[in-house]
Amino acid sequence: MFYNEIMEFIYLLFPSLIPKCNHDKISPNVDGGYCPDCGKYIQNEWYITRCACCGVKMKAMVKNGEIVPQHHYCSNCGSEEYKVDKLDQINFIDINFAALLKHEVENEFHPSTTRCWQEKTNEQPKLLVQYL
Ligand SMILES: [Zn+2]
Ligand SMILES: [Zn+2]
Repeated sequence: MFYNEIMEFIYLLFPSLIPKCNHDKISPNVDGGYCPDCGKYIQNEWYITRCACCGVKMKAMVKNGEIVPQHHYCSNCGSEEYKVDKLDQINFIDINFAALLKHEVENEFHPSTTRCWQEKTNEQPKLLVQYL
């Protein structure tokens, strides 16, 4: 059956159909690891948001894969500008403010041949066939 190939083709045309994995089995206590559900390498990244005006920490959350503050306005100065800081390590003070982003790391050691092919034009089809 060519089921996998067909699904890959469909996902290529409609990336929004790709089922999203939340990597729930990756514990927040580790730096990262392979997700048993989707096989991707997941890196736990902690972020906090700060007021861009006065620098006060604002409670962060993940919304649509982006780090945003939970409140629109700074409780200290009322500004709505904010900046996002990545934490090297989570500690017990920042954990009250921080949001955890489960970052999918592309596997650099095994680049997909399909991707190489997509990026190439049809200028040298013979070479490509030999390569594959
Ligand atoms: Zn996963
Ligand atoms: Zn402020």
